[in-house]
Amino acid sequence: MDDLKYGTRNKRGDWAPNQPVKTAPLFAFPPRLKAVLKWLPHYFFPWNMIFAASAVAYWAWVIPPVERLQTLGIEWIAWLYVVNAISVFLFYGAFELHLYVFKRQENRFKYNGRFPADQKSKAFWFESQNLDNILRTFLSGVTIWTAVEVAMLWAYANGYAPWLDFAENPWTLALIALVVPIIHEFHFFCIHRLIHTPLLYKWVHSVHHNSVNPSPWSSLSMHPVEHLLYFGTAFYHLILPSNPVLMLYQLHYAGFGAIPGHVGFDKVEIGEDKLVDSHAYAHYLHHKYFEVNYGDTLIPLDRWFGTWHDGSAEGEARMQERYRRRKEKLAVRKARVGIGEAAE
Ligand SMILES: [Zn+2]
Ligand SMILES: [Zn+2]
Repeated sequence: MDDLKYGTRNKRGDWAPNQPVKTAPLFAFPPRLKAVLKWLPHYFFPWNMIFAASAVAYWAWVIPPVERLQTLGIEWIAWLYVVNAISVFLFYGAFELHLYVFKRQENRFKYNGRFPADQKSKAFWFESQNLDNILRTFLSGVTIWTAVEVAMLWAYANGYAPWLDFAENPWTLALIALVVPIIHEFHFFCIHRLIHTPLLYKWVHSVHHNSVNPSPWSSLSMHPVEHLLYFGTAFYHLILPSNPVLMLYQLHYAGFGAIPGHVGFDKVEIGEDKLVDSHAYAHYLHHKYFEVNYGDTLIPLDRWFGTWHDGSAEGEARMQERYRRRKEKLAVRKARVGIGEAAE
């Protein structure tokens, strides 16, 4: 597959797509019905379908009967941790193995020409991005994911969360299922802005940003506080007219859904001529430039708040202009403080 048909590669070997990143036409005004219809299949396939299907599979085969969920028990909690850990290991591991260990498509469609394993860095535990990321994923990532899952299941089993039946409320639940990704993105944008404030960035979010060149294992490589905020997206179902399966879908959307954004490749080659879009570029640019694209492409929140970077020259210019204005502001403030001090 010739990736230069779709993008360009610079001297350092970094590949960038020709087309700027587009936001979904969902929140356009005036409404763009035709565009929404054309975009709709991408909303479901392949990613959202995978996360929804895994939620259904969990409910059918993994989650214990409701009577057991009513009381917290170490056996079923440990069981959930083990299943989550194995699922993450297999799902994340499949991308890692295919793209980073066997390098089946070498650096085709890879944003950053280098592979993290080739670069040691003191920022990481044992100076290894992979080892650091894997340990953080399983030590606190899957643990906090499981804890939130357990808390929610316990709440459902004891009548603390609204539990609608699919047979009786199909339309309400279909609507909630449709907005699960929107809830995720709204929630993620809010917490992400929060942890980019200077103090929380230094204490919490810098852990995730150590991976400037993200790979699959970077997806859940976070500080435990960020894990809690991130998986806290499930708590919306404490007040929404929902169902445990949709709550699981919300969790899987966060847990497994972190992968596409960190895969490091724009497209994953399947066989000879099929390409699957990772939709990773917006978040890759966040890892590269730090202060753009706090959200993703579903809700144009970054456009509304002026932090959108679509990878184009205009996007770059907008970002530089924003940095320049901020620098100016800081200089003025500094000068003022200076004058104040001199007057004292
Ligand atoms: Zn990230
Ligand atoms: Zn960030």
